[in-house]
Amino acid sequence: MNNQEEKKRSPVSWLMELAAPRRWEYLFSVLAALAGVACSLVPYLIMIELIHALLDGTADKAWCLDRCLVMGLWWVLRYVLHAVSTTTSHHATFHVLANIRMRLMNKLATMPLGTVLEKSSGSYKNIIVERVDSIETTLAHIVPEMTSNIVGAIAVLVLLFTVDWRMGLAMLVVLPLGILCFVTMFNRYEEKFQRTIKSTKALNDTAVEYINGIEVIKAFGQSKTSYAKFVSAAKEGADCFIDWMQSCIFGQSAGMAIFPSTLIGILPIGCLLFMKGSLTAETFVTVIVLSFGVMQPLITAYSYTDDLAQLGTIIGEVADILQREDLRRPETAKELPRDNSIELKDVRFAYHEKEVLHGVSLRIEPGTVNALVGPSGSGKSTIARLIASLWDVGSGSIMLGGVDIRALPLKECTDRIAYVSQDNYLFDLSVMDNIRMGRKGATDEEVMAAARACGCHEFIMSLENGYQTVCGSSGAHLSGGERQRISIARAIMKDAPIIILDEATANVDPESEQELTAAIEALTKEKTIMMIAHRLKTVRHADNILVIDGGKIVQSGTHDELMHQGGIYRRFVESRELAVGWKV
Ligand code: ADP
Repeated sequence: MNNQEEKKRSPVSWLMELAAPRRWEYLFSVLAALAGVACSLVPYLIMIELIHALLDGTADKAWCLDRCLVMGLWWVLRYVLHAVSTTTSHHATFHVLANIRMRLMNKLATMPLGTVLEKSSGSYKNIIVERVDSIETTLAHIVPEMTSNIVGAIAVLVLLFTVDWRMGLAMLVVLPLGILCFVTMFNRYEEKFQRTIKSTKALNDTAVEYINGIEVIKAFGQSKTSYAKFVSAAKEGADCFIDWMQSCIFGQSAGMAIFPSTLIGILPIGCLLFMKGSLTAETFVTVIVLSFGVMQPLITAYSYTDDLAQLGTIIGEVADILQREDLRRPETAKELPRDNSIELKDVRFAYHEKEVLHGVSLRIEPGTVNALVGPSGSGKSTIARLIASLWDVGSGSIMLGGVDIRALPLKECTDRIAYVSQDNYLFDLSVMDNIRMGRKGATDEEVMAAARACGCHEFIMSLENGYQTVCGSSGAHLSGGERQRISIARAIMKDAPIIILDEATANVDPESEQELTAAIEALTKEKTIMMIAHRLKTVRHADNILVIDGGKIVQSGTHDELMHQGGIYRRFVESRELAVGWKV
C-alpha cells in the first residue's frame, strides 16, 4: 500500500489492521459474551414464572426454592462466560499492544533520521509507552462488554415489549430527556479533548527536557527558569482538565440520574392502567422487575463512549507515525554494487527549507583513505550522514559501487558501511554487549579481539567490572572519550568494507588518539575510508583530501598537491591554527 492511500485511512481501519492477527480471539470473546447475555436472560424468564405462580397461589415452597436455585445457577454460568470472554480479550489485547509498539519501533528505524527528529524523544516515549498502554482497558473491555451490555439491554427490552407493549413505551419516556442531558456533555468535546492531549504532551516534553538538560541547568544556574517552564506546563495540564470536567459535570450527572429512573414513566402509567383494569398485578410487577434490566446495561455501555473517543485519538497518533514516509528503498536489489567506491553526483540537500549542500560532486576510490575537511558548518557531517543513508538526498545521487543507493535495500547499504559519528550512542548494556552490537552473534573472544585491535582492551579491563561494566543510559557511566573508543570498537567489530569516521576521535585525549589512529590505520587497510578528521596529522597521509566550504567541494588532492596548489587548504596549514571554525 502506498503512503498516499495510507494517509486516507481512518483510525478504525488502522485498528482493524493492528488487531487483525488476533481477530479469532476477539471473535471467541464476543461469542462468549453473547452466550453470557443469553444466560443472563433466563433468570428473568424464571422470575416472571415465579411472580405469576406466587400471585396465582399455585407455588409451593419446594418449587420456589428449586426455581431460585436454578436462577442462581444461570447467573453463575453467566459470570463464568463473562470471565472467559474478558480473559480471552485481555490476552488478545496485550498481544495487539505489543504489536503496535513493535510496529512503531520498526518504523522509527526505517524513517529518515530527519523525520524521526521532528518529534521530541519525550513525545515518542509518551506515545509508545503511556498512550498505547492507556488503550489496554478500552480495547480489552469494549469488545466483550459493550457487546454484552447493548445486546443484553435490547433483549430485555424486547422481552418487556412482548409482556406488554404499552408498558414498554412507558419505560422509554425518560429516554429523550436522558439523551438530551448527555448531548449537552458533547458540546465542544473534541476541542476540549484535544486541548488535554496537547497539554499532556507538552508536560511530558518539558519533563523529559528538564531531566535531560539537568547538567546544563545546574551548571548555569538555570533551575528557576527551567522549573518555571515545567510548572506552567503542569498548571496548563490541570486547568484544561478542570475546564473539561466543569463543562461536562452537569450533563453527565443529570443524565446518570434520569436515565435509570425508568419508574418515572412506568409507575404513573402502570397505576392508571391497573386501576382501569387493563393491566394485571402480575404483569405490572413483571414490568417493574424487567425495567431494571434495561437501563443499567445501557449506562455501562455508554460509559465506554468516552474511552472509544480516546481510542480513536490514540490510534490516530499511532497512525500518524506509521504512515510517515520511509526512506525510499526497494526490498531487493536489481543490481549489486560492483566495488566499494562512493560517488556523489551534483548532490543538493536541505534541512527543512535551508539548503546546506549546493551541488556536491566527489569520488572516493575503493581501498583508499579520504579526508573531508572544511570550516565548521560547511556540510561535512551532512555528507557523511547522506552516504550512511540516514537521510535521502534532495536531488542528485549517491552511487555505491556504481549503483544508486536508493536502488539498494537499506540492509545492503548498512551491511557495507560502518558509520561512527561523534556522538555515537551506547545502550544501557555491558561494554561487551555494546561492542557485540557491531556483529550479532559474535563470541566474547571475538569482541575482545576487536577491542584489542583498536587498543581498547586495556582501558576496558581497567573499568570497574571490565567487559561487564554497564554503560548506563546513553553511556552516562563513561567519559566522552571512553564512549567514543567503545563505539569505534563496535564499528571495527562490524568489519564493513567502507568506514565513515565523522570526527570519531574528537573526544579522545591526544595520547589515546595516537594509539587509536594507528590502530584504525592498521585495521583499515584494504578498506574504503572517509574520515572527517580534526587533526592535521591524520589528514596528511590520506590518499585524497576533499576540501569543502559553504556546501561545495572547493579543492581536492593529496596534501602535497593541495599545498602546491595554494588556496584555502594551504592557508590553513600555513597558519597552523587549530582554530575555531576549522576542523582539520
Ligand atoms: P559540519 O559537519 O561541516 O560542521 P554540518 O553538516 O553538521 O556541518 O551542518 C551543515 C549545516 O546544516 C549547518 O548550517 C548546520 O547548522 C545545519 N544542520 C546540521 N544538522 C541539522 C539538522 N538536523 N537540522 C537543521 N539544520 C542542520
